[in-house]
Amino acid sequence: MKVLKFGGTSVASAENIRNIVSIVEKNIKQGEHLALVFSAMGGVTNKLLEIGRMAAAGNDSYKELLDAIEAKHFALIKSLIPVQSQSNILALTKSGFNDLSDLLRGVSLIREFSKRTSDLTVSFGERLSTRIIAAVLTSSGISADFCDARTLIRTDHHFGMANVDFNVTNANIQEYFENRNAIQCVTGFIGQTEDGITTTLGRGGSDYTASILGAALQASVIEIWTDVDGMMTADPRKVPNAFTIPDISYAEAMELSHFGAKVIYPPSLQPAFTRNIPIKILNTFNPSFEGTLVSRSTPARAFDITGISSIDDIALVDIQGSGMIGVAGVSSRLFTALSQNSISVILISQASSEHSICFAINPEDAQRAQVVLERAFEKEIAAAQIDSISIQKNLSIIAIVGEGMRRSTGISGKLFSVLGKNGVNVVATAQGSSELNISVVISKNDLSKALNAIHGVFFQSETRSLNVFIVGAGLIGSTLLNQIASQAAYLKEERLLEINVIGLSNTRKMLLDTNGISPVTWRDSLEANGVKTSLPAFVQRIQELNLPNSVFVDCTSDKEIVQYYPMLLKSHISIVTPNKVANSGTYADYKLLRESALKYGVKFLYETNVGAGLPIISTIDGLITSGDKFLKIEAILSGTLSYIFNSFGPDLPFADAVRDAKAKGYTEPDPRDDLSGLDVARKILILAREVGVPLEPEAIKIAPLLPDNCLQAPSVDEFFRQLEISDDYFANLLADAAKSDGRLRYIASLENGNASVQLRVVDRQHPFYNLSGSDNIISFTTERYKDTPLVIKGPGAGAEVTATRVFADIISVSSFLE
Ligand code: ADP
Ligand code: ASP
Ligand code: MG
Repeated sequence: MKVLKFGGTSVASAENIRNIVSIVEKNIKQGEHLALVFSAMGGVTNKLLEIGRMAAAGNDSYKELLDAIEAKHFALIKSLIPVQSQSNILALTKSGFNDLSDLLRGVSLIREFSKRTSDLTVSFGERLSTRIIAAVLTSSGISADFCDARTLIRTDHHFGMANVDFNVTNANIQEYFENRNAIQCVTGFIGQTEDGITTTLGRGGSDYTASILGAALQASVIEIWTDVDGMMTADPRKVPNAFTIPDISYAEAMELSHFGAKVIYPPSLQPAFTRNIPIKILNTFNPSFEGTLVSRSTPARAFDITGISSIDDIALVDIQGSGMIGVAGVSSRLFTALSQNSISVILISQASSEHSICFAINPEDAQRAQVVLERAFEKEIAAAQIDSISIQKNLSIIAIVGEGMRRSTGISGKLFSVLGKNGVNVVATAQGSSELNISVVISKNDLSKALNAIHGVFFQSETRSLNVFIVGAGLIGSTLLNQIASQAAYLKEERLLEINVIGLSNTRKMLLDTNGISPVTWRDSLEANGVKTSLPAFVQRIQELNLPNSVFVDCTSDKEIVQYYPMLLKSHISIVTPNKVANSGTYADYKLLRESALKYGVKFLYETNVGAGLPIISTIDGLITSGDKFLKIEAILSGTLSYIFNSFGPDLPFADAVRDAKAKGYTEPDPRDDLSGLDVARKILILAREVGVPLEPEAIKIAPLLPDNCLQAPSVDEFFRQLEISDDYFANLLADAAKSDGRLRYIASLENGNASVQLRVVDRQHPFYNLSGSDNIISFTTERYKDTPLVIKGPGAGAEVTATRVFADIISVSSFLE
């Protein structure tokens, strides 16, 4: 004998019921003897509860909702049963709805929807669905009977979650099933008291019905057919990377389901466990998939934990008071009071000082719990031995579960570390003494982020993801996207790393998509699905999404955007950027960003602020952290100026050299933005700060490169004319340099705390003498590199090299998160 249970979604449509028929037929062909258990059609139990509450509130529109449910049931009959065989089931269904409608009219008249009436109301869900499916099976040539579980399952009067009397129930079931050849289609979820009053076994209770039947009938297996591929490492609706757990012990399955894995109702495990009957969890929509086997054995596993589950909404009650220390019986009185009032406790955490006890309950019980406890501890409160009973809401519980935790060390460390790195605050924690589970209470807002991040670290063999938000899709941004596209396969296979571009914005449009924006077709997606760019809205959305491992990539040179950096860091989002604005403002702002990154455990990376792709900032960081001291920095930090001074010579007047650089796209639209020296000043300012000199922007001495007439020219054309007029000035500079056999170089330097930018003549011995094209060069004289400075030289501009380094910074965020 096998017991097969089909859940709400499996019976929710004609197409799904056809799947059930074929699963049943296959079993019959294999010679299996079957009992079937069915839930109400998906969503019907919730709707019936809503309807009952509406009727009790005197809201007559409940009738329309009821009509809609009725129509759904009739539609099933019409599409699954041939017309000539419909009349009987149509009549039975109609009569069921008449009874239900009478009942609700009563509710509406007396304006009361008690738990007892509620149980009777929802029982129609299972009774109607099961009767229809029995008729469908019959009309498909399968010999099947409808069986109302109320005649079998005897319970107490605890409406809403009745306790089963197993002695009576088992005897009823065994007697009923004796000598029955037709397949019994049994209503899930419902039972009956000794005096014939309908009860239910708790939400999700059809699983329990199946297990009760399976145990009473000594079934070879209990199959729970649902809408997912078995019990998974986490709820697949919340954690897209979750995967099926092929084997699991009853105890583990119990812990996971107790903490929210609703794929199986926790009490269902007990009857099966007692009789050692395996439970299989299978997918009605993927019937050939093996699913999950729940049994007594625990197989060896590749991971430290078996699964993660969560309860979305809980309230935490905290009782504090010095009077509780060492007083025996406080907790026993506490929990007795709760249990006498049917308030069930999900998790308990007590500080070892016994100064406070805190426990999690269903938020619906919170108000009641407060009243109950204030009454129970009235005397202690009056005597100020208990200071307060406080209730915190909008919290969730996450539990990590697994037999493997008993054998491994460091699991809680790993759990708390990943939560910390993602900025998730742990409000309370508890570890079961069986060491089968560690639970944490966190803010509800952080639930999805925490679940995904925890899943990522504990199931390491899976690919980890970085969630990237890119602002600026100009030259650097689009080159970066190209590089992400072409490296994706390598990163996934070799580094188990996935870069998900979740948000993208250019000056016109922005797009956020949690499924990821393709780095190949992003232009089309942005055009088709993007909305008008609004930086504040973009940033707000990133914060709301609250995804783990988030990285904000600023590929602009925008001034406005940097005002959002502090709040992004505070929201535990790392920042990677070539934008110099943030680091070259006031020193206080510079410091704040670094401190925020440290405080919130995220990264702020900006290697490309100076020298494009050259490893300058990281080299300084390496030297400083290993204890070296900087004595002097000299550098050519502008690719544009480098190019101009490399081509300017006796054969090419200065004006032509600038014109040539502009034509090649090396300068800003107004070349004075480069020639003013401001950009170079910003870079040396950043370097000064990096080596520990806290300069303000005004402190950089900039020796002007251009004569006043050029600087003041009202237009770019006029500027070029003035350059030509000033040709002598530049020719003289060149001639002076030639006298000492030197070359002109625009050099930034830092020494003794003073930073300056100026045009200088360097001789043949100087390392900057030989510099070609638009290269940058930087020389560090430190205590360790005193005699021969450390020199870094290479291309100091270009979209490819800059984007590559931005990309490298993004990837380095992932190693930090491991
Ligand atoms: P049924 O109606 O078949 O009884 P339920 O809705 O009660 O189905 O349970 C199945 C649902 O449980 C899945 O759709 C899934 O979203 C949810 N779920 C939560 N945690 C898990 C988990 N660890 N593994 C599988 N499913 C889970
Ligand atoms: N129909 C009931 C519910 O929704 C029982 C079940 O589906 O298991 O809770
Ligand atoms: Mg269920």
